[in-house]
Amino acid sequence: MTSTPQPISPLGKTRDGFADACAAHGHSPHPARAAYTRFFRERDHDALPACAAAKIAPIVNRLDETCEEGVTTKFVQRLDRPGTGRLADQGVPHLDIESVIIPMLGRTGRKTHTLCVSSQVGCAMGCGFCETAQMGLVRSLSASEIVGQWWAARELLIEEAGGAGAPPVFETHHTPNNQTGGTPVPPSDVPPKIDNIVFMGMGEPLDNLDEVLAAVACLADHTGPGMPMSAITISTVGRVDGLRRLIDVVQQTGWKRLGLALSVNAPNDEIRDQIMPLNKKWGMGELREVMLDLVAVRGSRKILFEYVLIPGVNDAHEHAIELARWLQPFVRTQSRGHIGMLNVIPYNPRRDSPWPAPSEESVEAFVGWLRAEGIFAKRRRTKGRTQMAACGQLGAPDIRKRNYTPVTTNQTVG
Ligand code: SAH
Repeated sequence: MTSTPQPISPLGKTRDGFADACAAHGHSPHPARAAYTRFFRERDHDALPACAAAKIAPIVNRLDETCEEGVTTKFVQRLDRPGTGRLADQGVPHLDIESVIIPMLGRTGRKTHTLCVSSQVGCAMGCGFCETAQMGLVRSLSASEIVGQWWAARELLIEEAGGAGAPPVFETHHTPNNQTGGTPVPPSDVPPKIDNIVFMGMGEPLDNLDEVLAAVACLADHTGPGMPMSAITISTVGRVDGLRRLIDVVQQTGWKRLGLALSVNAPNDEIRDQIMPLNKKWGMGELREVMLDLVAVRGSRKILFEYVLIPGVNDAHEHAIELARWLQPFVRTQSRGHIGMLNVIPYNPRRDSPWPAPSEESVEAFVGWLRAEGIFAKRRRTKGRTQMAACGQLGAPDIRKRNYTPVTTNQTVG
């Protein structure tokens, strides 16, 4: 019996990668290249050659929360059922990917949209404050499934702006050598689009780095989705092995502007060990060394440090002072200003949380203490909390570690 080959998906591939894959199936690469661009720009599935197809997981749920800047939308895409494997045997009904579209108001008053994508269903890192960690790692997402989140988000925005017939959304995207963008289009003619992508949804991107990098390469392909590399940020718990790989990646042409964020979340090893088990493997000393190596190759490009502020755990004045000391080299290495910027994220209580959310005053105080120590600190505005769409609140309550044995992969830290 001959099995039909799997269709080649343009999602998660660069134009060259797609053309090569089509060529391997006997299709000439030139039309495949043109098809790739038409597919992404005109959202035209019919443009794809016979050997190709794009499967985008359907949106099965959508939750909106209105805030000052607009509407934060959490949407859920349903992957195939877990099949006949262990997850199915243990009663896990289906696998869902969660993503969030967050509206932002720029300094000029322009409204932008940041998409928070997931790199895995669940997460193996086990951070005590995070909802996703309660699921354990169910499975890593493919590059195609990651780019599929961007596709789905764009469809939602286009739908909101006037339906399926809305014009394509690429008018102002940059070309590789033109970072300021193409011919500007009057704002009223530009339908809303995803302006920024952050890997801050479910999962640890450096635990699935090959697929994440393939997804980023696709998203940043100027003949495809055309996101500027500088508009994409990978946020990590601090896997030192993955950060070492990123040192090589960000030195390659086209990758220099990739945004990076590190979730520090603690002022010292004692506290970090308690809330982030990974710290027992790679402590804050080693973490700082690898971050300094990264800074050395990235020059003056900013690195974002994140700090989830948890009442009674890491929110004291002495913690701010100790954290500032750890961050000092990132503040002082460049004469042209701060490389490291700290984002203080008020803890969003996960389900069954042992901690409450911090008070407004304690967040303000903590930011103030850091600033007094010379750190460029900002408070991250909380959006989506009522819909469990805020930072660290993504996760399916019906998939909890106690319900099944998590899948482990050889990429996962044991
Ligand atoms: N694994 C990656 C990305 C996922 S979480 C990482 O650790 O960076 C994205 C951000 O949300 C991280 O900075 C994480 O520390 C933060 N976060 C996790 N749980 C949170 C919670 N309950 N409240 C506020 N922020 C949280």
